[in-house]
Amino acid sequence: MMYIQPDECINCGICVSVCPVEAIYEDVEVPAAEQAFVAANVEFFSADVTGWGKPGGTSPRHVSTLDHPLVRAFPAGKK
Ligand code: SF4
Repeated sequence: MMYIQPDECINCGICVSVCPVEAIYEDVEVPAAEQAFVAANVEFFSADVTGWGKPGGTSPRHVSTLDHPLVRAFPAGKK
């Protein structure tokens, strides 16, 4: 899973338009059933998961085998 740092996202919408599985929503349009992922994206960057805080954009240095517990709990391949 790719995580979005909500404080750094500028809501340009490019990722929404290119995601092949339509898994990205603008924060104000996240369906009720997917709301837990809003917090998961925030928490991924916290000390509870990666501790990256605000990494300043994407880079090869910010690739991790860590996942938020909500995501880790999903069976592999479930959509
Ligand atoms: S590409 Fe997506 S995550 Fe990145 S700034 Fe634009 S809307 Fe935010």
